[in-house]
Amino acid sequence: MKIAVFNTKSYDQDYFENYNKNYHFDFTFLESALNEKTAQITSGFDAVCVFVNDVVNKETIKILAENGIRLIALRCAGYNNVDLEAAREAHIKVVRVPAYSPEAVAEHAMALILTLNRKTHKAYNRVREGNFSLKNLIGFNIHGKTLGVIGTGQIGAAFCHVAQGFGVQILAFDINENQALKDLGVTFVSLKELFKKSDIISLHCPLNVHTKHIINKSSIAEMKEGVMIINTSRGALIDTNDVIDGLINNKIGYLGIDVYEQEENLFFEDHSEHIIKDETILRLMSFPNVLITSHQAFFTQEAMDKITTTTLDNIKSFKEGAVLKNEVKT
Ligand code: NAD
Repeated sequence: MKIAVFNTKSYDQDYFENYNKNYHFDFTFLESALNEKTAQITSGFDAVCVFVNDVVNKETIKILAENGIRLIALRCAGYNNVDLEAAREAHIKVVRVPAYSPEAVAEHAMALILTLNRKTHKAYNRVREGNFSLKNLIGFNIHGKTLGVIGTGQIGAAFCHVAQGFGVQILAFDINENQALKDLGVTFVSLKELFKKSDIISLHCPLNVHTKHIINKSSIAEMKEGVMIINTSRGALIDTNDVIDGLINNKIGYLGIDVYEQEENLFFEDHSEHIIKDETILRLMSFPNVLITSHQAFFTQEAMDKITTTTLDNIKSFKEGAVLKNEVKT
């Protein structure tokens, strides 16, 4: 099978080439993102392999279908960037990596909480410059606080397990309550109660029509003064302008984000020599109590191993006409 791998970074290529020794697929690694413009170059390929910020909308899928593409292999869990209905109509199968390492993302969410709270990123820079002052580095004990977890699937559940060791009270909201977490002591509550009672809120639900901008002006109004909001899920769960207002008026005490609504032309690339034109991210970067990472929560060796082998297995199953256990359907 000939597979065009879009949005490739050197580390993706390294992992794919290493594991492909056992599979022998014909990969072409492309740096560009897949979208309605770049889809033109897929002629002669059987499949495309894409990541979180490739734009696999109706227009892109139409061109993929015209070029004979039969499979879209996502090398990620989220599939909000794929028009599944258009893919179904075009008879193109969509597969994904449903769980590559929930712990990787959960641990990064906790890293954001700990860094924002104890300001280790600031302390590191201070000490390197010979500044041993503790001024403004004061944090709070996580022990005894109330943690709100929105979405208790694989990552949310892993996050609850990590958080439990800190001695927090965990409140959770999910459209499907998780009995194993209840048995662990997690209390499922309404979204309203979670917003009202949580000191820290961590988002682990998928992005869809129901969850878009779940953090907005009115939900922020219901939250505690000085709340910490953590988003390692998808950028558009947060209405960024409303969160900026919440930071300005001190309602939000801390914001830690690994994802950002307009991240697709920014994240994963080095813009240090360019003028960044996105005024919203520049505003976010200006707050002392905001910590931004560039969609790296998944990025561990274990997760990369799993992403690569699952993607290769998904393509193999497709090639052999076997059951696609990781197929995404409408
Ligand atoms: P999952 O499918 O196992 O869990 C999602 C949970 O969200 C489910 O329990 C589901 O019932 C719940 N949910 C669905 N709609 C909801 C709603 N309206 N309100 C509350 N809960 C709702 O998915 P997962 O593997 O835990 O991943 C969660 C998300 O994390 C993914 O959708 C993806 O966007 C994001 N993610 C981010 C990274 C990263 O590197 N930052 C990596 C992997 C996944």
